[in-house]
Amino acid sequence: MPALSADSRGQLSMLKDLLRGHRPSDRSDSIRWRWTSDQLFTVKSLYQLITDAGLRVSMNQHIWNLKIPVKIKVFIWLLLRKRLPTADILLIRGMHVNQNCAFCAILTESCDHIFNDCVYVRFLLLNIGGSDTTDVSTGDVRDHWAETTEILADSSRKQGLILLAATWWVIWTDRNNSVFRGNPPNVTWSLERVKQLISNWTTML
Ligand SMILES: [Zn+2]
Repeated sequence: MPALSADSRGQLSMLKDLLRGHRPSDRSDSIRWRWTSDQLFTVKSLYQLITDAGLRVSMNQHIWNLKIPVKIKVFIWLLLRKRLPTADILLIRGMHVNQNCAFCAILTESCDHIFNDCVYVRFLLLNIGGSDTTDVSTGDVRDHWAETTEILADSSRKQGLILLAATWWVIWTDRNNSVFRGNPPNVTWSLERVKQLISNWTTML
């Protein structure tokens, strides 16, 4: 079987989580539509379901409205749900993995650590003119994203979200290069790649 990409593994893990909640019952079958309160089918509810599993909140709308590649949108969506296969999650599932962060090699790798707290991501954000990450003291990536979505000026908000998306994508790909291929992260190259992505995506606006 071919090896799954990091994205595919993340989506597979999300699918397993969704299926885990399913319990078959021995009652006779009946047709119900669980996505409306009266359990009757509507096209609107179907649309909401396929666009965001029925959970349309503004944080998600900001992801799908961004002019960036779809695979990056899916990645950010998984990241904000903390569904990426980071070491802390894999350890809980009983897998034997190196728990240390690929960047600082000191603290345990978690979504909040590598994308928000680690000195590496903070260095990248500060050097590309991102928000002052010292303000983001909660250690939760969702707060960082949510704070950026609250920027009122349309162009500044989009720029801020693209900056975060590019930085997080570089962090994840560099992390995978380190974990799966043994290539240690190089902060100068990471910074250049973030700048290149922002430049490419900004021309898509
Ligand atoms: Zn770290």
